[in-house]
Amino acid sequence: MKTDRYNRYARHLLKKYGEKVYKLPVKLAATCPNRDGRVGQGGCIFCDGQGSGFDCLPGSLSAQIAENKAYYRKRFNARKFIIYFQAFTNTYLPFEKFRENILAAAAEKDLAGLAISTRPDCVNDRYLDFLQEIKLTRSLDICLELGLQTVNYHTLVRLNRGHTLAEFIDAVYRIRARGLATCAHLILNLPWDNRQDVVESARVLSALRVDYVKLHSLYVVQGTPLGDMYERGEFDIISLEAYVDRVVAFLEHLDPTIVVQRLMGKGPRENLLFDNWGTSWWLIKEKIEASLEEEDTFQGKKFDYLNGKALGGFG
Ligand code: SF4
Repeated sequence: MKTDRYNRYARHLLKKYGEKVYKLPVKLAATCPNRDGRVGQGGCIFCDGQGSGFDCLPGSLSAQIAENKAYYRKRFNARKFIIYFQAFTNTYLPFEKFRENILAAAAEKDLAGLAISTRPDCVNDRYLDFLQEIKLTRSLDICLELGLQTVNYHTLVRLNRGHTLAEFIDAVYRIRARGLATCAHLILNLPWDNRQDVVESARVLSALRVDYVKLHSLYVVQGTPLGDMYERGEFDIISLEAYVDRVVAFLEHLDPTIVVQRLMGKGPRENLLFDNWGTSWWLIKEKIEASLEEEDTFQGKKFDYLNGKALGGFG
């Protein structure tokens, strides 16, 4: 059956909470250490300066939550929510400010949990201890969403990420030690990565036992360093067919218990030089699902490489 070929987020939420749960994107007055000079200047080469917050509403945190809740209640009859701190690096705040925002969100009614988007080099024991306390005292599920993009640490340098794979591994260990969840964000068509890098990303995330993944394709925004490189013709973007093939290969190697929050992302609405091959994200999602069907394959089909595979022949 089509919907069983990968571990879908909507189904996971339904099973976990017994009803549909809606993610409410919110934006804090946070920034990013890779933009303000703490770690780097100018940010990741693809970053448009919005820090992925183009879907968020303006206004105070409480106003954003209230407006989002009202919209989802009216449109979908929604009753349960996850507040998603989406834009920029939401733990890159002085501790007291971070605490204040999290406490305000955690006090909301009808909440299943919090999702907090950040960088692997922006979680530490103090912030995580506090989140663990909130999880336990408020009975909330808390997920740290970490931008990784690729496990290829050479590509991470080219992207000017300002961190390597090591910080990601460290963050995942610290998060899991506190009973919190991790979601890894990946881009599967980075110009300097090949199919093998994509497969290795699935293998590393499986070995680290992250809880969730979100897949994106690369979007190129005018005025970014990546946009300048694109306009100068300095790199090629693989075809949509090759992208679909990479997603399928990624899923085949991914631990089947990892939940896939998203197969495709969408870019900002303006100044795009390249975005999803000029087609809609849901059509690409359908292509990926059709490809899984046609190839009669599924998430975890090739997840057979951990726990001393080479010893298998010894019984
Ligand atoms: S970590 Fe995120 S917000 Fe910071 S520069 Fe990179 S993409 Fe932009």
